[in-house]
Amino acid sequence: MPELPEVEVTRRGIDAPLRAAQVLSVRLGKPLRWPLGVAPQALAGARVGPVGRRGKYLWLPLSGGGAGDGGLLLHLGMSGSLALLAEAGPPGPHDHFEMATTQGTLRLTDPRRFGAVVWSASMQDDPAGKLLASLGPEPFDHELTPARFHAELHRRRAPIKAVLLAGEVIVGAGNIYACEALFAAAIHPRTRSERISPLRAERLLQALRATLARALDLGGSTLRDFRDAHGMSGAFQDQAQVYGRAGQACRRCGGSVRRIVQAQRATYYCAGCQHP
Ligand code: ZN
Repeated sequence: MPELPEVEVTRRGIDAPLRAAQVLSVRLGKPLRWPLGVAPQALAGARVGPVGRRGKYLWLPLSGGGAGDGGLLLHLGMSGSLALLAEAGPPGPHDHFEMATTQGTLRLTDPRRFGAVVWSASMQDDPAGKLLASLGPEPFDHELTPARFHAELHRRRAPIKAVLLAGEVIVGAGNIYACEALFAAAIHPRTRSERISPLRAERLLQALRATLARALDLGGSTLRDFRDAHGMSGAFQDQAQVYGRAGQACRRCGGSVRRIVQAQRATYYCAGCQHP
Protein backbone atom coordinates (compact mmCIF):
# COMPACT_ATOMS: atom_id res chain seq x y z
CA MET A 1 0.00 0.00 0.00
CA PRO A 2 1.27 3.52 -0.65
CA GLU A 3 3.08 4.82 2.43
CA LEU A 4 4.12 8.33 3.41
CA PRO A 5 7.23 8.44 1.18
CA GLU A 6 5.22 7.33 -1.86
CA VAL A 7 2.56 9.95 -1.10
CA GLU A 8 5.22 12.65 -0.67
CA VAL A 9 6.92 11.58 -3.92
CA THR A 10 3.51 11.85 -5.60
CA ARG A 11 2.99 15.32 -4.09
CA ARG A 12 6.34 16.52 -5.41
CA GLY A 13 5.51 15.05 -8.81
CA ILE A 14 2.24 16.94 -9.25
CA ASP A 15 2.76 20.15 -7.25
CA ALA A 16 4.82 22.26 -9.66
CA PRO A 17 3.15 21.05 -12.90
CA LEU A 18 -0.33 21.76 -11.51
CA ARG A 19 0.46 25.15 -9.94
CA ALA A 20 -2.19 27.68 -11.03
CA ALA A 21 -3.76 25.18 -13.43
CA GLN A 22 -7.45 25.77 -14.05
CA VAL A 23 -9.92 22.92 -13.66
CA LEU A 24 -11.79 22.17 -16.88
CA SER A 25 -13.92 19.23 -15.74
CA VAL A 26 -14.12 16.44 -13.16
CA ARG A 27 -15.27 12.92 -13.91
CA LEU A 28 -16.05 10.20 -11.35
CA GLY A 29 -15.92 6.44 -11.89
CA LYS A 30 -17.23 3.89 -9.41
CA PRO A 31 -17.70 5.01 -5.78
CA LEU A 32 -14.54 5.40 -3.71
CA ARG A 33 -14.36 5.11 0.08
CA TRP A 34 -16.37 8.27 0.71
CA PRO A 35 -18.50 10.48 -1.57
CA LEU A 36 -16.92 13.55 -3.19
CA GLY A 37 -19.27 15.83 -1.26
CA VAL A 38 -19.75 18.35 -4.06
CA ALA A 39 -21.15 18.24 -7.59
CA PRO A 40 -18.21 17.49 -9.93
CA GLN A 41 -19.20 20.28 -12.33
CA ALA A 42 -19.05 22.81 -9.45
CA LEU A 43 -15.23 22.44 -9.48
CA ALA A 44 -14.86 23.62 -13.08
CA GLY A 45 -13.09 26.97 -13.35
CA ALA A 46 -11.26 26.63 -10.02
CA ARG A 47 -7.52 27.37 -9.79
CA VAL A 48 -5.19 24.80 -8.21
CA GLY A 49 -2.97 26.00 -5.36
CA PRO A 50 0.17 24.47 -3.81
CA VAL A 51 -0.38 20.77 -3.16
CA GLY A 52 0.04 19.88 0.53
CA ARG A 53 0.37 16.64 2.46
CA ARG A 54 -0.57 15.54 5.97
CA GLY A 55 0.28 11.95 6.84
CA LYS A 56 -0.81 9.93 3.84
CA TYR A 57 -3.38 12.50 2.73
CA LEU A 58 -2.79 14.98 -0.06
CA TRP A 59 -4.48 18.39 -0.03
CA LEU A 60 -5.23 20.01 -3.37
CA PRO A 61 -6.38 23.60 -2.77
CA LEU A 62 -8.98 24.88 -5.24
CA SER A 63 -10.15 28.47 -5.38
CA GLY A 64 -12.63 30.43 -7.42
CA GLY A 65 -14.77 27.60 -8.78
CA GLY A 66 -18.53 27.28 -8.46
CA ALA A 67 -18.07 25.41 -5.17
CA GLY A 68 -16.25 28.38 -3.61
CA ASP A 69 -12.81 28.23 -1.99
CA GLY A 70 -11.75 24.91 -0.55
CA GLY A 71 -9.91 21.87 -1.75
CA LEU A 72 -9.81 18.16 -2.31
CA LEU A 73 -8.44 15.76 0.30
CA LEU A 74 -7.06 12.70 -1.48
CA HIS A 75 -6.04 9.34 -0.04
CA LEU A 76 -4.55 6.54 -2.13
CA GLY A 77 -6.01 3.79 0.07
CA MET A 78 -4.58 0.30 -0.43
CA SER A 79 -3.87 0.31 -4.12
CA GLY A 80 -4.30 3.82 -5.48
CA SER A 81 -1.90 5.82 -7.62
CA LEU A 82 -2.14 9.29 -9.07
CA ALA A 83 -0.85 10.20 -12.49
CA LEU A 84 -0.66 13.59 -14.16
CA LEU A 85 -1.16 12.95 -17.85
CA ALA A 86 -0.44 15.38 -20.68
CA GLU A 87 -2.62 13.35 -23.04
CA ALA A 88 -5.27 11.40 -21.13
CA GLY A 89 -6.67 8.53 -23.13
CA PRO A 90 -10.10 7.10 -22.32
CA PRO A 91 -10.40 6.10 -18.62
CA GLY A 92 -9.81 2.44 -17.79
CA PRO A 93 -11.99 0.26 -15.51
CA HIS A 94 -9.96 1.23 -12.40
CA ASP A 95 -9.83 4.99 -13.04
CA HIS A 96 -12.36 6.40 -10.56
CA PHE A 97 -11.49 10.10 -10.36
CA GLU A 98 -10.24 12.33 -13.11
CA MET A 99 -9.69 16.08 -13.06
CA ALA A 100 -8.94 17.65 -16.42
CA THR A 101 -7.03 20.94 -16.11
CA THR A 102 -5.30 23.41 -18.40
CA GLN A 103 -1.99 21.71 -17.41
CA GLY A 104 -2.84 18.05 -17.75
CA THR A 105 -5.27 15.50 -16.38
CA LEU A 106 -4.93 14.22 -12.82
CA ARG A 107 -6.14 10.63 -12.75
CA LEU A 108 -6.64 8.34 -9.72
CA THR A 109 -6.31 4.66 -10.57
CA ASP A 110 -7.47 2.48 -7.69
CA PRO A 111 -8.40 -1.19 -8.33
CA ARG A 112 -9.50 -1.88 -4.74
CA ARG A 113 -11.30 1.47 -4.26
CA PHE A 114 -10.20 2.10 -0.65
CA GLY A 115 -8.91 5.45 -1.82
CA ALA A 116 -10.83 8.68 -1.41
CA VAL A 117 -11.30 12.14 -2.88
CA VAL A 118 -13.32 14.43 -0.61
CA TRP A 119 -14.24 18.09 -0.95
CA SER A 120 -13.72 20.26 2.12
CA ALA A 121 -13.80 24.03 2.69
CA SER A 122 -10.34 23.78 4.32
CA MET A 123 -8.07 21.21 5.95
CA GLN A 124 -9.47 22.28 9.32
CA ASP A 125 -13.14 22.06 8.35
CA ASP A 126 -14.98 18.75 8.27
CA PRO A 127 -14.84 16.30 6.65
CA ALA A 128 -11.08 16.95 6.22
CA GLY A 129 -10.63 18.13 9.81
CA LYS A 130 -12.24 14.99 11.19
CA LEU A 131 -10.15 12.68 9.00
CA LEU A 132 -6.88 14.40 9.94
CA ALA A 133 -7.65 14.90 13.66
CA SER A 134 -6.16 11.65 14.99
CA LEU A 135 -2.88 11.83 13.08
CA GLY A 136 0.34 12.01 15.08
CA PRO A 137 3.13 14.51 14.34
CA GLU A 138 4.92 14.50 10.99
CA PRO A 139 8.26 12.62 11.20
CA PHE A 140 10.33 15.68 10.25
CA ASP A 141 8.40 18.11 12.48
CA HIS A 142 11.00 19.94 14.63
CA GLU A 143 8.53 19.99 17.52
CA LEU A 144 8.77 16.20 17.64
CA THR A 145 11.81 16.13 19.92
CA PRO A 146 13.37 12.90 21.25
CA ALA A 147 11.99 13.77 24.71
CA ARG A 148 8.46 14.22 23.42
CA PHE A 149 8.73 11.03 21.33
CA HIS A 150 9.89 9.09 24.40
CA ALA A 151 7.12 10.54 26.55
CA GLU A 152 4.49 9.45 24.02
CA LEU A 153 5.99 5.94 23.71
CA HIS A 154 6.00 5.72 27.51
CA ARG A 155 2.22 6.31 27.61
CA ARG A 156 1.44 3.40 25.26
CA ARG A 157 0.84 -0.12 26.59
CA ALA A 158 1.60 -2.22 23.51
CA PRO A 159 4.52 -3.65 21.52
CA ILE A 160 6.58 -0.91 19.86
CA LYS A 161 5.86 -2.19 16.34
CA ALA A 162 2.10 -1.89 16.88
CA VAL A 163 2.48 1.57 18.42
CA LEU A 164 4.45 2.80 15.40
CA LEU A 165 1.90 1.39 12.94
CA ALA A 166 -1.01 3.04 14.76
CA GLY A 167 0.29 6.45 13.65
CA GLU A 168 -0.66 8.37 16.81
CA VAL A 169 2.88 8.92 18.10
CA ILE A 170 4.33 9.64 14.66
CA VAL A 171 2.87 9.36 11.16
CA GLY A 172 4.70 7.70 8.31
CA ALA A 173 6.00 4.56 10.05
CA GLY A 174 4.14 2.15 7.77
CA ASN A 175 4.95 -1.54 7.84
CA ILE A 176 8.12 -1.60 5.75
CA TYR A 177 9.56 1.54 7.37
CA ALA A 178 8.67 0.45 10.92
CA CYS A 179 10.44 -2.89 10.36
CA GLU A 180 13.51 -1.24 8.86
CA ALA A 181 13.75 1.49 11.52
CA LEU A 182 13.44 -1.01 14.38
CA PHE A 183 16.28 -3.01 12.80
CA ALA A 184 18.41 0.11 12.43
CA ALA A 185 17.75 1.03 16.08
CA ALA A 186 18.45 -2.58 17.22
CA ILE A 187 15.04 -2.79 18.95
CA HIS A 188 13.10 -6.07 18.94
CA PRO A 189 9.60 -5.45 17.49
CA ARG A 190 7.91 -7.08 20.52
CA THR A 191 9.58 -4.70 23.00
CA ARG A 192 6.93 -2.97 25.09
CA SER A 193 6.61 0.66 24.07
CA GLU A 194 6.36 1.88 27.67
CA ARG A 195 9.68 0.21 28.57
CA ILE A 196 11.83 1.81 25.88
CA SER A 197 14.50 4.04 27.46
CA PRO A 198 14.97 7.70 26.46
CA LEU A 199 18.24 6.80 24.70
CA ARG A 200 16.67 4.00 22.65
CA ALA A 201 13.67 6.22 21.84
CA GLU A 202 16.06 8.84 20.48
CA ARG A 203 17.84 6.20 18.37
CA LEU A 204 14.50 4.98 17.07
CA LEU A 205 13.38 8.49 16.12
CA GLN A 206 16.68 9.04 14.28
CA ALA A 207 16.30 5.66 12.55
CA LEU A 208 12.73 6.47 11.45
CA ARG A 209 13.85 9.80 10.03
CA ALA A 210 16.85 8.27 8.26
CA THR A 211 14.75 5.42 6.84
CA LEU A 212 12.03 7.74 5.55
CA ALA A 213 14.59 10.19 4.15
CA ARG A 214 16.29 7.38 2.25
CA ALA A 215 12.95 6.15 0.90
CA LEU A 216 12.17 9.68 -0.30
CA ASP A 217 15.56 9.92 -2.01
CA LEU A 218 14.92 6.62 -3.76
CA GLY A 219 11.42 7.63 -4.84
CA GLY A 220 9.46 5.49 -2.40
CA SER A 221 9.05 1.74 -2.36
CA THR A 222 7.63 -0.34 -5.14
CA LEU A 223 4.78 -1.98 -3.31
CA ARG A 224 2.41 -3.63 -5.73
CA ASP A 225 0.83 -0.85 -7.73
CA PHE A 226 2.79 2.14 -6.58
CA ARG A 227 4.07 4.39 -9.31
CA ASP A 228 4.87 8.03 -8.80
CA ALA A 229 3.10 10.73 -10.75
CA HIS A 230 5.35 10.21 -13.78
CA GLY A 231 5.12 6.42 -13.89
CA MET A 232 8.46 5.66 -12.18
CA SER A 233 8.95 2.83 -9.70
CA GLY A 234 10.72 3.20 -6.37
CA ALA A 235 13.83 1.28 -5.41
CA PHE A 236 13.76 1.33 -1.60
CA GLN A 237 12.61 -2.23 -1.10
CA ASP A 238 15.58 -3.59 -3.08
CA GLN A 239 17.77 -2.25 -0.27
CA ALA A 240 15.66 -3.47 2.67
CA GLN A 241 17.67 -4.98 5.53
CA VAL A 242 14.89 -7.19 6.91
CA TYR A 243 11.55 -6.38 5.25
CA GLY A 244 10.41 -9.22 2.98
CA ARG A 245 13.59 -11.23 3.69
CA ALA A 246 12.28 -14.05 5.95
CA GLY A 247 14.68 -17.00 6.01
CA GLN A 248 17.47 -15.04 4.32
CA ALA A 249 20.75 -14.13 6.00
CA CYS A 250 20.86 -10.90 8.00
CA ARG A 251 23.11 -8.48 6.14
CA ARG A 252 24.73 -7.44 9.42
CA CYS A 253 25.23 -10.64 11.50
CA GLY A 254 24.50 -13.46 9.06
CA GLY A 255 21.69 -14.89 11.23
CA SER A 256 18.33 -15.79 9.73
CA VAL A 257 15.74 -13.01 9.29
CA ARG A 258 12.49 -13.98 11.00
CA ARG A 259 8.86 -13.23 10.23
CA ILE A 260 6.10 -12.93 12.84
CA VAL A 261 2.59 -11.45 12.66
CA GLN A 262 1.71 -8.47 14.86
CA ALA A 263 -1.58 -6.56 14.66
CA GLN A 264 -2.44 -8.57 11.51
CA ARG A 265 0.72 -7.33 9.76
CA ALA A 266 3.91 -9.21 8.95
CA THR A 267 6.93 -8.13 10.98
CA TYR A 268 10.46 -8.96 9.83
CA TYR A 269 13.40 -8.78 12.24
CA CYS A 270 16.76 -10.29 13.20
CA ALA A 271 16.87 -11.86 16.67
CA GLY A 272 20.65 -11.53 16.66
CA CYS A 273 20.67 -7.78 16.03
CA GLN A 274 17.43 -6.61 17.71
CA HIS A 275 17.01 -6.78 21.47
CA PRO A 276 14.05 -6.45 23.87
ZN1 ZN B 1 21.36 -9.69 12.39
